[in-house]
Amino acid sequence: LAKGRGRARYEVFDDDLRYRIHQRLDTELALRDAVALGQIETWYQPIVDLQEHRVVATEALARWRRPERGLVSPAEFIAIAEEVGLIKGIGTTVLSQACHAATALERGMAVSVNVSARQFVQDDFGAVVQRALKDSGLPPDQLWLELTESAVLEAIDSTARTFQELRALGVRLAIDDFGTGYSSFTHLRAFTVDLLKIDLSFIRDLERSDHDRAIVEGILRLADSLKLDVVAEGIETTKQRDLLQGMGCRYGQGYLFSKPAPSASPAVLFRT
Ligand code: C2E
Ligand code: MG
Ligand code: MG
Ligand code: MG
Repeated sequence: LAKGRGRARYEVFDDDLRYRIHQRLDTELALRDAVALGQIETWYQPIVDLQEHRVVATEALARWRRPERGLVSPAEFIAIAEEVGLIKGIGTTVLSQACHAATALERGMAVSVNVSARQFVQDDFGAVVQRALKDSGLPPDQLWLELTESAVLEAIDSTARTFQELRALGVRLAIDDFGTGYSSFTHLRAFTVDLLKIDLSFIRDLERSDHDRAIVEGILRLADSLKLDVVAEGIETTKQRDLLQGMGCRYGQGYLFSKPAPSASPAVLFRT
């Protein structure tokens, strides 16, 4: 009896596994054609100046409009795209759409584009960025590139060169999800960036957690001495905004101001 039940459980497990493998292959196959079929869209979420109540930039966020499935979030396809070598095409598409959209924005407003490790370590990444700027006519200082900490560590040698190329172009470099990667400080020492984005996990419990407030204050003090700008991600409440404002955090982003939207032109509500 026990044996029988065991086998039944294995069958359930097999079916589940088979289903997941099928889904995964299906997604991979569909993703292969997504760029060519024009299914990759770029949505935008404003980055605001918390002190001056104005929009300074907007972050480009990839979306996949998958037929019969609707709008797929990057959490469901970016990692797969990285694994199967499709991130280069997707990343270049988003970069190009973002640069073009940014040229229509109010003067001086920047667009901030996420760059995955796989893109950043490719030999011609500097050239890809240069091309996107040239094709769109966007001034380089109106392009920010967001790198996660793992992206920077992955291949120190090639990334150092790419860093220099990008700096020479005049684009601004940001570390995304700051505080969540391993050895954040190593990166600050090895590479010159302009901006830190404090990961939303440190903002979520800001009101309740003395601990998280201390960490955020520490990051702000560090950024101040290194002359880096700071964006706090994931601000959802006026209380979080007020706390960050009080701590001297200059920039913020989150559902309180705006959720990601299909248009790059910001519609932001500055609640009191
Ligand atoms: P990220 O770059 O850290 O972007 C922030 C994510 O938090 C976005 O999710 C955004 O919609 C969400 N968010 C913004 N404000 C709030 C808030 O107040 N509360 C909460 N709970 N969430 C908020 P999204 O658009 O699903 O993107 C997820 C991640 O996917 C991004 O994290 C980024 O790492 C990656 N990603 C998105 N687009 C691209 C892309 O074009 N290229 C690459 N390589 N990665 C991308
Ligand atoms: Mg980002
Ligand atoms: Mg982030
Ligand atoms: Mg994130």
